[in-house]
Amino acid sequence: MTTAKDSRGVDLDIKDAVEGYERFRLEFERDRAFFKGLANRKQKPKLLWIGCCDSRVVPSQITSADPGELFEVRNIANCVPPSWAEDDTVGAAIEYALGHLGVDDIVVCGHSGCGGIQALAEPIPPGQEAHLGRWVEYTRRAHQLVGAARVPEAERMAATIRAHIQFQLDNLMTYDIVAQGVAEGRIGIHGWLYDMELGEILAYDPKTGAWRGLQDAAAGTA
Ligand SMILES: [Zn+2]
Repeated sequence: MTTAKDSRGVDLDIKDAVEGYERFRLEFERDRAFFKGLANRKQKPKLLWIGCCDSRVVPSQITSADPGELFEVRNIANCVPPSWAEDDTVGAAIEYALGHLGVDDIVVCGHSGCGGIQALAEPIPPGQEAHLGRWVEYTRRAHQLVGAARVPEAERMAATIRAHIQFQLDNLMTYDIVAQGVAEGRIGIHGWLYDMELGEILAYDPKTGAWRGLQDAAAGTA
């Protein structure tokens, strides 16, 4: 594999990032007071956002959030390993956000066309990509549930993505700090699904088991 370079031998991907940085520097100068404010006080994010790594799903863009508003954990397929799992990255973020930053809402946001969900359906050859193979095991419950429900082929992927988000909400509840906060009404947990083609977010309603438009769900209307 070769990397595309310009006539002076500069890597084009890095060049793009450097040019983007130069534009950001101008923005920084324009909004210097805002950035100085961020730097001079403790962060106080509004949401713990657990989302997918997918480069097309940008949390701050789809929520119009400013720097300082989202405390983000992004991993392949927006997984929340249960509290007893080997992986601590999500658990550490949960404990820090809730225990130290005063965050009281957690969003698990999946998205249409998630390659991380698809990955489990495309077996990795033995001995290769061991980390990826272990990681996508966190999506297996959703695949099994949808497989057992005999969902038609054309709807299987979308159903698996939705089921996976619901399972991650269950997994959030395996963390004491979340379970206790939810039980006391101090912490809210929210399952969202971003549709890349429509630019729309649906929210899971645990009371009815339905998914509906985010604005309707947030307003509590039927
Ligand atoms: Zn994804």
